Amino acid sequence: MQKIILTGDRPTGKLHIGHYAGSLKNRVELQDSGNFDEIYIEIADAQALTDNADNPEKIRQNVIEVVLDYLACGIDPKKTSIFIQSAVPELCELTFYYLNLVTVSRLERNPTIKDEIKLRGFKTSIPAGFLAYPVSQAADITAFKATLVPVGEDQLPMLEQTKEIVRSFNNIYGKTLVEPEILLPKNKLCSRLPGLDGNAKMSKSLGNCIYLSDSEEEVKKKIMSMYTDPTHLKIEDPGHTENNPVFIYLEAFSNASHFAKYWPEFQNLDELKKAYEKGGIGDMKVKKFLNNVMEETLKPIRERRKYWENHIKEVYQILKDGTEKARQKAIETTKEVKAAMGINYFENDSWIKEQENKFN
Ligand code: ATP
Ligand code: MG
Repeated sequence: MQKIILTGDRPTGKLHIGHYAGSLKNRVELQDSGNFDEIYIEIADAQALTDNADNPEKIRQNVIEVVLDYLACGIDPKKTSIFIQSAVPELCELTFYYLNLVTVSRLERNPTIKDEIKLRGFKTSIPAGFLAYPVSQAADITAFKATLVPVGEDQLPMLEQTKEIVRSFNNIYGKTLVEPEILLPKNKLCSRLPGLDGNAKMSKSLGNCIYLSDSEEEVKKKIMSMYTDPTHLKIEDPGHTENNPVFIYLEAFSNASHFAKYWPEFQNLDELKKAYEKGGIGDMKVKKFLNNVMEETLKPIRERRKYWENHIKEVYQILKDGTEKARQKAIETTKEVKAAMGINYFENDSWIKEQENKFN
């Protein structure tokens, strides 16, 4: 069986370090491993409209921003097809058929959807498309026959939903769709990076982010005013490293060489944590170190982004070519799906022959 990757992001804003830690870094490593036959990355604009129907301009403005972030992180268009969801209408078609394989109560039980409904303040006015977006994700994944989906932890329920739809479809109509596997980051903390404000998730929609495109000054300002340990008032007070986003970011991004270079007093994060928990280490010092660590990751990304910002016509062509390739694949799968369902009336003459025999 072919090894195929599908992932994506909603163009609701520029990408942040949560995306990098949770998914982008993995994607680049998998891409460069050479172990995959096809790799697709989707700009999920149609999905983003499910909770931004009144603000399509936001989505329109962020499509290229997200592609720039991909290219800046090392996504290589020679190996990976980047495409726009709404430009592949077969994905809507598949969604429409899959919707019949799930119940409304099943959709309402999805824990990520429940969280997002709360966060977005929908209360009882939930857009139907929003409630059903996990089904459209199933369409995205299966249209490409993806075997692996590298994403953050909030996507676990979506992958579960996709698997259920695949099983249900294959049971009713015969084996057609492929069951995907989820790939979460090795480092558990990277699966759901908290926000600068200490909120459980850094999220574009919450605006608590360090963006991959932030300038050196912006990153520094954000880190210096970050939420830390509210009980650590004086330097000599014992500090808490758990649920402290500064330490969580260090856990996600720092390594021994950063200590050797910027804080040789400690060999690794465990040593720093022990010292902080004992008391005597000021938050400002830890934040300065974090800033140095983040700069090591962000500087090359920022520089590559600048290059692509000056080559927007090429970026447009990359997206157009990627979308063309993705569309061909989705058309093929949709043909198979419709054949399995027996609704491929004009694909060959078997249906009309059957009807002829029925009446003659
Ligand atoms: P929105 O607020 O519009 O939903 P978002 O910041 O949640 O935006 P998405 O486009 O929904 O970003 O998510 C894209 C991918 O990034 C998914 O695989 C998701 O799991 C991952 N991701 C998003 N936020 C984080 C985070 N804070 N930590 C780790 N992974 C994340
Ligand atoms: Mg999200």
